[in-house]
This record gives sequence, structure tokens and C-alpha cells, in this order.
Amino acid sequence: MRLISSGRHHATFELGDLQVISLRDGYIDMPPTRLRDEEGRPLGELPAAVPIVGGNLRLSVNAFFVTDGTRSVLVDTGASDNWHDPTMGLIYDALDEAGIDRTHITDVAVTHNHEDHVSGLIAPDGSQAFPQLERVWIGAGDTSVFTGRLEPVRDRVVPVSERVAINNWITAVPTPGHTPGHTVYDVHGAAGHLLIWGDTVHVPTLQFDRPNVTWEFDGDQPQARAARADLLRQLAQPDHFVAGAHLDSPGIARVTPAGDGYTLEYLAPPIG
Ligand SMILES: [Zn+2]
Repeated sequence: MRLISSGRHHATFELGDLQVISLRDGYIDMPPTRLRDEEGRPLGELPAAVPIVGGNLRLSVNAFFVTDGTRSVLVDTGASDNWHDPTMGLIYDALDEAGIDRTHITDVAVTHNHEDHVSGLIAPDGSQAFPQLERVWIGAGDTSVFTGRLEPVRDRVVPVSERVAINNWITAVPTPGHTPGHTVYDVHGAAGHLLIWGDTVHVPTLQFDRPNVTWEFDGDQPQARAARADLLRQLAQPDHFVAGAHLDSPGIARVTPAGDGYTLEYLAPPIG
């Protein structure tokens, strides 16, 4: 897998015959007390490798568009204006910048039902962001989110309750823990696997080195920890890559074992 080109809000990669475009929705600042140890307590002092900006951790927010030139799937949609935070909601600009016409998008797959992943289905003006939308894949445990603002797309929801192929190069894989319906999307082809893993890691400067550290918003902390351990083991295989919603934009990396944990090596320099 390799970088082809990049801009301020997007980066385009090649995975064999597939194009993977990372789309930057923005960032969100969160207090370091959200990091939890194995007893569920906030972590004490953080290693110097973890950058703190104004007292907070700064989490990138990314979505990923994958296409074979004919069929395309958008994985996650950003926060739109739903978080009431002007640092997110850039996905529409990112799509424009990447030359992707969002009015042609038919398939959206969301990793889970939190606002920074699903709210972008509805644009800030209240219209459907993807007017030709035919299917919204989401873990069956997370479908209750399609009320209120998201009600207009509910009739297109496809609940995922087991491993299922969306097409012949992307498979939905349930990985409950962060939320009951958390789902990873495995993009696969002759050139390898790209696991688009949603919120498996929130703080990349810490949780690869120390995968047992969890996040306050992991709904089931032991289950989230086990899911992360399992996915990291998979990613340590040759020709496996990760795309993370909260890895530093553009958020695509290679993972290798190191000591009791792992290291990640980004495939592209930072954007944004
Ligand atoms: Zn998230």
C-alpha cells in the first residue's frame, strides 16, 4: 500500500487495484483523564511521547472512501455540525478536494453510532449529505441512533450482526467493545488487507505501546481491550495495514510488534 497524492484535507493511497482516500473531518480535544488503566482508573502521568495541547489530547477525526473505479464505499462520515464544535465537519470539503462527488455515493458503512462517525449522514443545513444513498451498514447493536436528526436515512439501514461481505473487496467484521455494534471493515485484495478499525485506538501515541490502556467511552472496557489485542495481532501479519478514525490524519499505518506492544509507522506525512 502506498501514498499517491495528498492535500490539506485528504490523502489518496493505492492498495493494489483499489484506491483508498482518507478524508479529514477535523479534530476534537479531549482531557487525558479519559484514558483508563486495567482497573478503570484514570491514568497517572503520561509518557512524554503523548502530546498535550492546551491541557488536552488532540484526536484527529478521519473517514475513508474506498473505490475500485466502479463500486465505492464510504466508511464513517464525520460529525457534521452535530458536535457543536467548529473543529469538525470538514468531510464535505475533503470530498470536494479529493474530487469525489458526494451526490453519487450509494454505500456508507459506519464503524459505530457515535456522533463523530455517523452524524455526517446529514449535512449542516439538515439535508441528506448523500442524496443517492442506498445502504448504510452498521452493527446491529448500534442501530438505535437512527431517530431524530438521523431518522431520514433509517429506511436504508443494513444491520450487521455477523461477518458479512459488502462486496468482493470489503467485509464487515463485528468487533463489539467500544460500542455493542462496533464494526471493523476489512478491505482486501491481492495487495493485502486494510483494516478500517473505527475507534479501536483513540490515542495512537500511547495505545500501540500500551494496548491495555482503554478509553472512558469504551462502553465495555474488557471487551474493547480484547478486541484491540485481537486486531493488533492480525495487523502484525505481512501486507496488513490499519486505517484509524482517530489515528493522526491521514491515519493509515503499518503495525509491527515491539516489546509488550506495537509500533505504528504512518504511510504518509501528517495533513491538516
Ligand atoms: Zn470516535
